[in-house]
Amino acid sequence: MTRTTRIDDLPLRDELRGKSPYGAPQLDVPVRLNTNENPYPLPEELVRRIAERVSDAARGLNRYPDRDAVGLRTALAGYLTETTGHRVGPTQVWAANGSNEILQQLLQAFGGPGRTALGFDPSYSMHALIARGTGTGWISGGRDAHDFTIDEPAAVDFITEQRPDVLFICSPNNPTGTAVAPETVRALYDAAQAAAKGRHGALVVVDEAYAEFSHRPSLLPMIEGRPNLVISRTMSKAFGAAGLRLGYLAADPALVDAVQLVRLPYHLSAVTQATAHAALEFSQTLLGYVEELKSERDRLVRELRAMDLEVTDSDANFVQFGRFADPHAFWEKVLEHGVLIRDNGVPGRLRVSVGTRAENDTFLDAVRAALKDTH
Ligand code: PMP
Repeated sequence: MTRTTRIDDLPLRDELRGKSPYGAPQLDVPVRLNTNENPYPLPEELVRRIAERVSDAARGLNRYPDRDAVGLRTALAGYLTETTGHRVGPTQVWAANGSNEILQQLLQAFGGPGRTALGFDPSYSMHALIARGTGTGWISGGRDAHDFTIDEPAAVDFITEQRPDVLFICSPNNPTGTAVAPETVRALYDAAQAAAKGRHGALVVVDEAYAEFSHRPSLLPMIEGRPNLVISRTMSKAFGAAGLRLGYLAADPALVDAVQLVRLPYHLSAVTQATAHAALEFSQTLLGYVEELKSERDRLVRELRAMDLEVTDSDANFVQFGRFADPHAFWEKVLEHGVLIRDNGVPGRLRVSVGTRAENDTFLDAVRAALKDTH
């Protein structure tokens, strides 16, 4: 079909005009280390278990799925209890199609026109994009320019001045890999409650998409006694199931009730629920892969530092490194050597996701070669 209408000819919302959709390049190169995926395919035994569970679900596909996904939420609560040592039940857990949908549902319920969300950049760009998509104003706070931590007193002052309705804390943070200390989360939570315009306080979202890779324990126990704190998680990273699209949250049961006001009915397909359930049965095996990735991550940090590069401490399955006068030119050089990494637009820096040992070796060789080319 010949295209005669352009997007700007449509009666589009003003705030979406001239904007681009989220998009990491999906290039066909031998080593792809650009989207923080888990490099290990699911084990064959789990693939067979998924097939079994999905076959069972298929027999009932003439019916809508369990709307509240109670079975899956019970399994997720079990996983969180086991891995954090903090007891949570199914009424404290909610699931959706990827944690992006979790974040969207949170902003639909707690953000919206006339309200604002605040985050500390550079951080996960979808926080601002989902804010825009839900009509929520976005306020960008900063981070330390050298180690990318959140400067607690400065952040408390900024929150007090800006009075956001929703506060995002990404820990470990994408794209920098930086974990946030529980004392800082406590201070920012308290500041957001004290500054809030309404008498019900402000929502604080801790995005823990990379929690399993951290040197630090999960912040999940902090939901106790903090009804406005929500922990967002995903099966896309540690579970190696980015293609599954399963994200979840843990919070006070009242917050789970609130999210149900905006979720689409039957949003989580029976196939998704069955697949996620099967993956949770294999969590111990999958967490074994996470241990390997953590030691590979630490190796990448060491090896890049040995090349005299400036490497940000990482608690995630990716590493931010620099500094480059022209990061994009260096990104292209690495690509010429067959390795796709990420230019997130952070000044002077690039990001690499942790791959298999062989992929990481190829990446390190590519960086060495690219450094030689540029000297
Ligand atoms: N939060 C963070 C910090 C992320 O980096 C990502 C994925 N890149 C997500 C949330 C969303 O992941 P998903 O929708 O696959 O759960």
